[in-house]
Amino acid sequence: MLFRDLVELCSKLEKTTSRTEKVLYIAEFLKKLDLSEVKPAVWFLTGRIFPDYEDRKLDIGWATVSKVLKSLKSTGRLLAKPMTILELHRALLKISLVEGEGSRRKKERLLLSILSSMTPNEMEYFLRILFGEVRVGAADGLVLDAIGKVAGVDEDTVRRAYMFIADIGELAETALAKGAKGLRNATLQLFRPVRPMLAEMSYDIRSTIRELGGIAAFEYKYDGIRLQIHRKGNEIKVYTRRLTDVTNSLPDVVEIARNIRADEYVIDCEALSFKDGKPVRFQDLVKRIRRKYDVRRMVKEIPLEIRAFDLLYLNGKVLVDLPYAERWSLLEKIVDEEYLAKRIVTGDPNEAKRFLEESEKEGHEGLMAKKLDSPYTPGIRGKYWFKIKPAQTIDCVIIAAEWGHGRRRGWLSDYHLAVLDEDSGEFVMVGKTFKGLTDDEFEDMTKRLLGLKIGERGHIVYVKPRIVVEIAFNEIQRSPKYKSGLALRFARITRIRYDKSPYDVTTLSELKRLYEKQFEKKSRIEE
Ligand code: ATP
Repeated sequence: MLFRDLVELCSKLEKTTSRTEKVLYIAEFLKKLDLSEVKPAVWFLTGRIFPDYEDRKLDIGWATVSKVLKSLKSTGRLLAKPMTILELHRALLKISLVEGEGSRRKKERLLLSILSSMTPNEMEYFLRILFGEVRVGAADGLVLDAIGKVAGVDEDTVRRAYMFIADIGELAETALAKGAKGLRNATLQLFRPVRPMLAEMSYDIRSTIRELGGIAAFEYKYDGIRLQIHRKGNEIKVYTRRLTDVTNSLPDVVEIARNIRADEYVIDCEALSFKDGKPVRFQDLVKRIRRKYDVRRMVKEIPLEIRAFDLLYLNGKVLVDLPYAERWSLLEKIVDEEYLAKRIVTGDPNEAKRFLEESEKEGHEGLMAKKLDSPYTPGIRGKYWFKIKPAQTIDCVIIAAEWGHGRRRGWLSDYHLAVLDEDSGEFVMVGKTFKGLTDDEFEDMTKRLLGLKIGERGHIVYVKPRIVVEIAFNEIQRSPKYKSGLALRFARITRIRYDKSPYDVTTLSELKRLYEKQFEKKSRIEE
């Protein structure tokens, strides 16, 4: 199939507003694909080039693209033969593999040959994919529905299969190759990391206990790095929440994993480090992740420990459907106490409150409250886990930045913050901030943002939505100015979340829920 056919589908999708029709178009398209091209076709369609968990970059910025476009215009090249989806994907893979001396020129040449095979319309879609706009052809939700349709299974089955298969391209391939059975049988496998289970925000302990059925487990919420450890005999792999394999950067974690008393397991945990008895702050911890050089020095400087809190697999058995309380008692048997999350089980709000104070006094973030009979639901922010922390924050992605004045001159320092509108797949702006970063961080951020630049207007630089920041704010207000309809008042960055992908940011519907929640404590006059 040609890339051109995929672009045609995207234009067709843009022309209709009917969800059913869109799903139908995508399903028809999927059925026409050759098995070997399903993965790249679905990645392109959903605005990806490689699977989410692959740490692969094209390293092509705005400057390179505009240079190549210019040279294409000036040479007035004739249109080269249109590329198939597979050819285009192979060409992009090749670009990602170019390294070393002269790599810039090589990348430019490869990009030129890609672009010269495209009509202006195709180019537009291609550039959208290249610059990582989430909204290219279809939001993930539509493609998931289409996959369900192709395989003849309901929404829940597709979503459950997606938790375990984790890559939307591979999910589509499984549906097309193995049909309904393939999706129904999808389950956790060793060395195939799953998306971690997520938590809802809790507003107060008493109502959270009620919501969880009158009694709950409370665990320390550590301000560390989420890791998933897989082991089979001597083989141990460690993955981040973005499912990237970071085993080689974390020999100390591997060592701890080796001493866990089971031959085969998948453990969910938080990694953290202590200095002078106090937990090391998050921004220092992330230095350990994906570190490829000087690993030994870093291990000495910031030695990691783990706090395990869940067990997903043990000696040949997938445990995700077992109640959490049972998973915990198996976990307790194989992990030494020092490496387990601190935990109590109670229905008494005062006891939970005291435990929260203890956690904060020791320098941790707060508590997690967990439902005792809940399954492990990968990738889902369900009503089984609640996070209790004093400072409420959301996660936003930076979509643009403004050049600073005065003391901040020379830095991109005023950041446009966006959340994900999961219906349209777009990132929508909710505020701006220049607060919260140190000078060094401004410096570093400016460099990173310039590397992600996709355009500029006046003093505003537009960037690929890549960098996730945690944002504290005083209030959420209605806003006619922003398309999202909401604005954050006194937004400030509390940290840069290099461990999160733009798909992990707060969604617009979550923000709307938070907006409404405010009025449980405050009354409103407007509306
Ligand atoms: P936050 O931004 O508040 O750190 P998050 O957005 O990373 O949270 P959430 O699902 O909202 O993700 O909160 C759960 C996170 O808290 C987990 O991803 C994990 O990294 C961390 N965590 C710390 N301690 C625990 C624990 N005992 N159980 C589960 N998660 C824990």
